[in-house]
Amino acid sequence: MLAGCFARMNIPDKYQYDALMLKPLELPRRYLVGFDPKELPHHFTDVLIIGGGVAGFRSALGIPESQRVLVITKDQVRESNSQYAQGGIAGVLDPEDRFDDHIADTLNAGKGLCDVDVVEGVVREAPGRIGELIDWGTHFDQINGSVALGLEGGHSHARIAHALGDATGREIMRAVIQQARARRNIRIWQNSITIDLLSHEGRCRGVLVWDRRRGFALVWARAVILATGGAGQLYRETTNPAIATADGHAMAYRAGVRLRDMEFMQFHPTVLYIAGSARHLLTEALRGEGAYLRDSLGHRFMPDYHPLAELAPRDTVSQAIASQMAKTHHSNVYLDLSHLDPEFIRKRFPGIDRLCRDFNIDFTKDQIPVCPGAHYMIGGVIVDPLGRTSLPGLWAAGEVTSSGLHGANRLASNSLLEGLVYGARCAADISRFLEESGPRPLEVPPISGSSSEAGRDSIDLVDLRESLRALMWRRMGISRDADGLRDAARQVDFWCRYVLPHVFQDPTGWAMQNMLLVARLMIASANAREESRGVHRRLDYPETSSEWRCHIEL
Ligand SMILES: Cc1cc2nc3c(=O)[nH]c(=O)nc-3n(C[C@H](O)[C@H](O)[C@H](O)COP(=O)(O)OP(=O)(O)OC[C@H]3O[C@@H](n4cnc5c(N)ncnc54)[C@H](O)[C@@H]3O)c2cc1C
Repeated sequence: MLAGCFARMNIPDKYQYDALMLKPLELPRRYLVGFDPKELPHHFTDVLIIGGGVAGFRSALGIPESQRVLVITKDQVRESNSQYAQGGIAGVLDPEDRFDDHIADTLNAGKGLCDVDVVEGVVREAPGRIGELIDWGTHFDQINGSVALGLEGGHSHARIAHALGDATGREIMRAVIQQARARRNIRIWQNSITIDLLSHEGRCRGVLVWDRRRGFALVWARAVILATGGAGQLYRETTNPAIATADGHAMAYRAGVRLRDMEFMQFHPTVLYIAGSARHLLTEALRGEGAYLRDSLGHRFMPDYHPLAELAPRDTVSQAIASQMAKTHHSNVYLDLSHLDPEFIRKRFPGIDRLCRDFNIDFTKDQIPVCPGAHYMIGGVIVDPLGRTSLPGLWAAGEVTSSGLHGANRLASNSLLEGLVYGARCAADISRFLEESGPRPLEVPPISGSSSEAGRDSIDLVDLRESLRALMWRRMGISRDADGLRDAARQVDFWCRYVLPHVFQDPTGWAMQNMLLVARLMIASANAREESRGVHRRLDYPETSSEWRCHIEL
């Protein structure tokens, strides 16, 4: 099945192996920590799901109740990118809308790198997946007895189903977690860090986990689903919560799983920018409802950049904001809603209203300071249309994957949808696999992790983390060039040399190692792609090149 996806790849030969930095990274060890199975507790399950966002829980709910499912989340079960989704889920629900238009909008945003069959399949599955959420108790906002549909950038029709105004993720997660908790076959381990995938004889067998209560443990499973979400925490400015440290990308890479398109990080154009406050996303739906972007001189600049003005695709808006910030020598631009009906705006965006009030901003009158922030990791683990990765026994769904849906730029509100569709497909494929293979006892393969170097005394992880995030923002941000990328690579290589060989005994160290590894993969891919496409903008290669209409696989 994977062959179909790979057949579309056509990296120019000269770039395959000799491009600077694209050589495989030499990792000091297969596993981040040493472990001896004889000394650790063992747990067994039929299906193990790493991650409890929309993709993880949708997978869990698709597994028949006769099979044991374990969902592992790194933090509280409610801490995920899914929880914070504001705008909603895209789907053709209006009789006046057409599948072909949703497909065309997705392909248009993806700038030549979408897999057309994947796009078509996901778009056509959307109404069914949204209907399923309604059956499970999700209350989408209604108008005249039907689901109210919003418009977002890049969409040619109003097709975004939203809930609680601007808290769609919170409502969806409430419903799916409640469903999962009601199922007797689903267990949830919260605050449990998955450190590594365990592989043996070319198959994924389970994971090594750690939590404060149990310490280290091995979990063995007949099928494993990776649903660990994104990588926004690699950047100083991001909309992502603290869990998004690219753990899944890193553990997949260590296990030899194929990844691609790591240069494509999508930046959200409008993140509340107030020094000292946490960065909060201000949903695209604000612009969908008519909000303007103005620079520090009060000029509404988006019509200068794109005919769709504020509703241009995200990459265009983020890049325009960055250019305008540079032109005006100002650290941010402003969202202006003062020309819109205040009563409607307060009702439609109650969460943003509350957030702005916390900073003494009346968003119906005052200008809201915003700047772009890292938002959505487009690249990731390659999956086929059934959610299978290149490692047998391992499936993947959601933001950690590269399915072919988003291409070089994700269309707004297509990612919750992707998580639902691929979560369901993984579950269906695994259910078939478990059914066909019949009940079998799980064998414990002879796997152990060796380690020698330990200790962290000399490494200030807080300082290192902030330095990496600042470097990524400066050199691997909205605009890149060869000099900046080489500088970033040298710096990250230097950090990798003394951080990766260490054996840490706590989550901060493992997250740091994952972040460094993934930063290095992203920089290598961005350096190799000598063109601008979608969210990847090279100042030294400003044009899109037909030669680069291909994926970069690692
Ligand atoms: C502020 C914000 C707003 C957004 N708005 C929208 C929107 O309106 N519409 C839309 O379509 N998309 C939106 N997105 C994107 C979308 O929310 C995500 O792409 C999607 O929810 C990802 O789902 P997921 O299940 O793949 O990952 P997540 O929801 O991020 O879940 C990841 C899970 O993996 C767990 N995990 C991670 N690492 C480990 C580890 N080492 N061990 C154990 N568990 C681990 C986490 O604890 C978490 O449970 C938004 C994102 C953000 C941040």
